[in-house]
Amino acid sequence: MFSDLHPLPLDPLWALQNAHRDDPRPHKLNLGIGIYRDAHGHTPVLNAVQHAERSLAEAAPSKVYRPLSGNADFTAAMTRLLLGEHTPTLDRAVTVQTVGGTGALRTLADLIASAHPDATVWTSNPGYANHHPLMRAAGLLTAEYPWQDDGTGTTDLRPMLSALDAAQPGDILLVQGCCHNPTGIDLSQESWHALAQHCQGRGLIPLVDMAYQGLGQGLTEDAQGLQIMTRHLGTVLIAASCSKNMGLYCERTGTATVLVPQPSEKAAVLSVLEGIARRTYSMPPEHGAAIAAALLNTPHPWHQELGAMRDRIRTVRTQLGHALRDAGAPHDLLTIEHHQGMFSLLPLTPEQMDTLRDHHAIYGTREGRINIAGIPDHAITPLAHALIAVYGR
Ligand code: PMP
Repeated sequence: MFSDLHPLPLDPLWALQNAHRDDPRPHKLNLGIGIYRDAHGHTPVLNAVQHAERSLAEAAPSKVYRPLSGNADFTAAMTRLLLGEHTPTLDRAVTVQTVGGTGALRTLADLIASAHPDATVWTSNPGYANHHPLMRAAGLLTAEYPWQDDGTGTTDLRPMLSALDAAQPGDILLVQGCCHNPTGIDLSQESWHALAQHCQGRGLIPLVDMAYQGLGQGLTEDAQGLQIMTRHLGTVLIAASCSKNMGLYCERTGTATVLVPQPSEKAAVLSVLEGIARRTYSMPPEHGAAIAAALLNTPHPWHQELGAMRDRIRTVRTQLGHALRDAGAPHDLLTIEHHQGMFSLLPLTPEQMDTLRDHHAIYGTREGRINIAGIPDHAITPLAHALIAVYGR
């Protein structure tokens, strides 16, 4: 049965992880994968998570199956986090628990494939490496719009909108809600408004990918673009992840939300989402969702720790900017300071990224993405010098 199968090429990100693991140089620096690390390079479990886990263990609730749509406390609290408290849009929202943000994207892709199989999903270029494969795995076509800096650190809307002129009514605009992976550049508030208008005028359905809420400007601030969409449009799809902002990476905790024009459409959408879950994995895992529900419903300790993560990312950006400036870096490299969230896309070629790895033991993706949230304090100045050595002044 399997004799005609050939091994697939290793995903470049995992290949990078393996190469870093096998590198004997003691000063090696892994800026490949998107994981938050503290000033000493560790990724500890948040105190709020540890507290929630202790409470859950003491309460020892039963392990019986949960509903297909997951933990209702969790999905309700996530819906409020995404859409805002006390907003009429809450009445139009259906949310199910998913296996991380990836599971949310795939669940929504399957929903789109059920409702409108001919839809093309438009994603950013550069963009998240898994968007195309996830959408195509559900049988959907994909296309791209450009995502580039307008010179002020935000996304240039003009080339984006002109690419979207080729989109058909009913097509899906997959857009990252904040902290764009891999560029770190986001839409301004004005651009979100213009994009919402464009979707309305052209009949496009936004699918907002929220993988980093709270790691840019703040939990509320980072949801503003999404909420411009949800306030202005009848139908909006949202994929959310608790991997980064709660540090729940391996617990695979996320949600898929569908905003429908009329509350009467919710029941059908929920039943299709539950059907997708049923034929994929049945019930989602409870542990991460129970932890996340505790964090969301007693938010103060979590907000403090999330704020500390956000502040550290900001501080690393500022310090890296200073170190680059002190060493005479060109303007192109200094844009790192203005980016949002965990990532920045360096203006280095794939060959220069190879040199960074081979000569300086610094691992980023060949596209030039580095995880700013993964730079320990002691590596900031050496990184600045290495970047200038490879890129030039
Ligand atoms: N969307 C984007 C833009 C991401 O960067 C990621 C994770 N790196 C995901 C979705 C998937 O999140 P998760 O790890 O929760 O599956």
